[in-house]
Amino acid sequence: MAGQVFAYIRHKEGKADDSAQELVVAAGKIVPDATLTAIVTGAGSDLDAVCNEVAASYQEVWKFDNEALAYPNAEAIRNLLLNVLPQDSIVLIAHDTFGMDLGPGLSIKLDSVFVSDVVDFEGLEGDTLKVIRQEFSGQVSTHSSCDLSAGAVIDIRPGVFQAEDSGAAVSGQVVDKSADVGDIAAGRRFLEVVEAEVGDVDITKEDVLVSVGRGIEDEDNIEIADELAEAIGAVVSCSRPIVDAKWLEKSRQVGTSGQTVKPKVYLALGISGSFQHLGGLKGNPYIVAVNKNPKAPIFQVADVGVIEDLLDFVPVLTEKIQEG
Ligand SMILES: Cc1cc2nc3c(=O)[nH]c(=O)nc-3n(C[C@H](O)[C@H](O)[C@H](O)COP(=O)(O)OP(=O)(O)OC[C@H]3O[C@@H](n4cnc5c(N)ncnc54)[C@H](O)[C@@H]3O)c2cc1C
Repeated sequence: MAGQVFAYIRHKEGKADDSAQELVVAAGKIVPDATLTAIVTGAGSDLDAVCNEVAASYQEVWKFDNEALAYPNAEAIRNLLLNVLPQDSIVLIAHDTFGMDLGPGLSIKLDSVFVSDVVDFEGLEGDTLKVIRQEFSGQVSTHSSCDLSAGAVIDIRPGVFQAEDSGAAVSGQVVDKSADVGDIAAGRRFLEVVEAEVGDVDITKEDVLVSVGRGIEDEDNIEIADELAEAIGAVVSCSRPIVDAKWLEKSRQVGTSGQTVKPKVYLALGISGSFQHLGGLKGNPYIVAVNKNPKAPIFQVADVGVIEDLLDFVPVLTEKIQEG
């Protein structure tokens, strides 16, 4: 039978990341009646606020308050988890840049299975867990079986296990485990946080974003998105290839290596929907996707999907909006 289930909680400025709720949903799909333990690490007063928030959805919250954990250094946190996790644990981590850093090394040290970027589960039979992942930028789903008998580290793709499915609130117990931290010395040192540049507009504060991807095809075509944005009172953002091509400023990039945005409405024009892009999209916005490939992964998360050439469709849409 599978071991105890833990979730590592990401947080910032006293608030848990959206993924904290998503990991509850994911855990429920692995072992429906599991006792779920949240692991919250950090230093200082912010930590209590995070623990209390998380205790509303986890049966137990382990708090580790230690100066060496003030910054989420994956190496130090890996050492901590090795010190405190029981044998055969199942550890869930959000598949963001931090999760990619922590997960593989942790599983090697625990001598347990590692599964990366999971988008769904097909159930647990005995110790065998069936998982679904995606390949080729989401165009192909892979169905794999993994043996949980020696535990597992499972990275969960952010945004796919939506939090509203998490069920009734619980009243979890916060347990201060700071005395158990042990030796977590790491070779890697934290120097400073470098905030992303804000630029001429701050896309993180906008309610409506018109986002362009490689499907815009040419720098001159960005004007099409500018006109639509102006017509609906939105701001233009983009995927990474647009920044790499120097067509727009880095401050306009949505994604794991760009900005995290929380618009109410997100228009994705010629964006395939890579997990690095969608990882920057929080708060469950209403997504309208325009893409000429019906198999583009963006359609799996879109509320409205338009299968069209954006260079034909968007100018017509703008014109109709302008006509009122
Ligand atoms: C460590 C790392 C970090 C990364 N961070 C980010 C990040 O922060 N943000 C980010 O966006 N990416 C990031 N990426 C890159 C990411 O993996 C994808 O390559 C990128 O998101 C793809 O951008 P895209 O969707 O614009 O382009 P593509 O994947 O090339 O998709 C273009 C889409 O446009 C469609 N299309 C083409 N022409 C048209 C047309 N005329 N009309 C309509 N549709 C059309 C195509 O069908 C396709 O679906 C990162 C990658 C790595 C490795």
